[in-house]
Amino acid sequence: MDLVKETQSTCPYCGVGCGVIIQSTGNQITGVKGDPQHPANFGRLCSKGSTLHLTATAEVTLQTRLLQPLQRLQRLQRGAAPEPVTWDSALHTATTKFAQVIRDHGPDAVGFYVSGQLLTEDYYVFNKLAKGLIGTNNIDTNSRLCMSSAVAGYKKTLGADSPPASYEDLGLASTLFIAGSNAAYAHPILFRRIEDAKAANPALKIVVVDVRRTDTAEAADLFLQIQPGTDVMLFNGMLHLMLWEGWTDAAYIAAHTEGFDSLKALVRDCTPDAVAAVCGIRKAELMEATRLFAQSSATLSLYCMGLNQSSAGTAKNTALINLHLATGQIGKPGAGPFSLTGQPNAMGGREVGGLANLLSAHRDLANPTHRAEVAALWGVPNVPEKPGKTAIEMFQATADGEIKALWIACTNPAQSLPDQATVRRALERAEFVVLQEAFATTATARYADLLLPATTWGEKEGTVTNSERRISRVRAAVAAPGPQDNGSRHDWAIAVDFAQRLESALGRTPALPTLFPYPTPESVWNEHRESTRGRDLDITGMSYAQLEATPLQWPMPEGTTSGKVRLYEDGVFPTPTGRARFVAAPYTPVAEQREARYPFALTTGRLRDQWHGMSRTGTLGRLFGHVREPALHMHPQDMSRRLLAEGDLVHITSKRGSILAPVQASTEVGLSQVFLPMHWGDEFLSGQSNTGERLGGVNALTSPVFCPDSKQPELKHAAVKVLKADMP
Ligand code: SF4
Repeated sequence: MDLVKETQSTCPYCGVGCGVIIQSTGNQITGVKGDPQHPANFGRLCSKGSTLHLTATAEVTLQTRLLQPLQRLQRLQRGAAPEPVTWDSALHTATTKFAQVIRDHGPDAVGFYVSGQLLTEDYYVFNKLAKGLIGTNNIDTNSRLCMSSAVAGYKKTLGADSPPASYEDLGLASTLFIAGSNAAYAHPILFRRIEDAKAANPALKIVVVDVRRTDTAEAADLFLQIQPGTDVMLFNGMLHLMLWEGWTDAAYIAAHTEGFDSLKALVRDCTPDAVAAVCGIRKAELMEATRLFAQSSATLSLYCMGLNQSSAGTAKNTALINLHLATGQIGKPGAGPFSLTGQPNAMGGREVGGLANLLSAHRDLANPTHRAEVAALWGVPNVPEKPGKTAIEMFQATADGEIKALWIACTNPAQSLPDQATVRRALERAEFVVLQEAFATTATARYADLLLPATTWGEKEGTVTNSERRISRVRAAVAAPGPQDNGSRHDWAIAVDFAQRLESALGRTPALPTLFPYPTPESVWNEHRESTRGRDLDITGMSYAQLEATPLQWPMPEGTTSGKVRLYEDGVFPTPTGRARFVAAPYTPVAEQREARYPFALTTGRLRDQWHGMSRTGTLGRLFGHVREPALHMHPQDMSRRLLAEGDLVHITSKRGSILAPVQASTEVGLSQVFLPMHWGDEFLSGQSNTGERLGGVNALTSPVFCPDSKQPELKHAAVKVLKADMP
């Protein structure tokens, strides 16, 4: 009888980054349990993590996975079933096509759209492939949709994209200020740590700011149910009150910050009356939230998509960080602004610079010194200066015919990007689409000319970084599935194989050694590690061997033996002056305001037991026990005014498209607001664009408008109308 093998790894779902122990027998995953040694979860797992093994059974693998390379031989056959091909043939086709597009139209005619679910090593190779070999900065990621506003917010204020706090600060805080985060659903194990902190310290105050009364809000001592998109007004109003009451920390402001006078002038008009009117809250609530924030011995802010997915995402982040700087609530135990990452490795993608505006190790593409440093590290003449296309821009440029060949890895833009009509036009118009994926079931698979099967959780090796800057190993428990000589391959290895072929096809001098000399993921990681030397995220003191023993936080420079739990304890920030910067950002309303024809504010979000487009969680019946099907949440008073009954089918229509869904009474949402979960695609929420193309899912409705600083789209808000399905 085969013995049960146990392999330490990391959960592939959210940014909490829980450690798991995978149990396997032979080449089959048979069980999963929480890793009691992992500092993120100490053995606990949520409903998604604890059922991971059931998503990897032989039956599910057979039904859902892409198991060998497939190709549609002609572009117009995209809707048809693709034919199996060998890896050699598939990569030859991809290389020939990309090389031809690059030769005929230049390097910016190709684009790479990758994912926060890739491992750091995968991300690193793709970034080098695009920026170092091809010479285009057209590489962006679905992490653009989840945390680019947090990146921009940290860099503008603190000088670097380095979250300053850690999970252990949850137990040291006196006030938890949770804004735009339903951690109870999106980060369940973190939320359990919040519940533990409250149980251990009943004096801990929890303040929640959200447009919906979520399960997280239910746990709050004070809940501020603000109007959509008004966070900046709230935070600026809180600073106004802090100044009025003398609750700012003048000594901290004088010693460690700059730019406070401009901010003071900006918030002068953010009076309690003005805030109450704009945000839709009572003045007493504003006063109490301000007092709890400013007068607490340690205030920790937790924030997520409610702040980030906004046309004012960066302003929301900076306005909240302003409060921490103004009260000195940073750089001490239990305090600081702490953004939560949605995906398991959104942080790793930021570290390797896998976004259109970034370079390795938190360097900036716009900085000529940084470009030269990365070019030297990679051994290439230069890194191009021209900014790359970010997620929304990339698909718009493809729809416009500017980008002709797209490589999509580990993500499903035909469901997850806003304004699906444009995205699908782009996928139709592209001359060549490669999809590198583990799952054959995504909507994007229908648009791919070439489908490359990738390994996934339980099968691949590498690292991920969670929300608290902690790097954990991801390990393989079983072999890659599919035919032995033509089955799925690791993402980094696919990218390396393609890159080496492209080096030849583009005529890179044969005498030169390859830019991609990587036999293992560890060799990729070692190069990434070297790129961090002297940077804010320096990990030159870490090794794969150390990570085998325990996950570690950065920074951990050479010569040190452990990472840093907390940043900026000395009050020195990585800015030219060493001072943190206040940012005076005025309140701006949501981009698409409600109006007579579109009188509801639609917001979107996660459910507790589902993940993204449900490629994995959708395979398990038990994960539908919490919520069986998608429904539009609407306040009972709005339903009765519109003569709607529970379960009635309604058309939900924005300026971009319309979908059909049942309506459900909910007092979680305010009046004139509705909520739809993000997980279901066009097979369940069918609809059409405003020009009649068939599409569906919540992103048929959402807006592509993005924050001017972070380029993160406003997925949390769209103006819609709701009509009973049998009405004209
Ligand atoms: Fe996985 Fe997140 Fe659940 Fe932890 S909290 S088990 S990382 S989904």
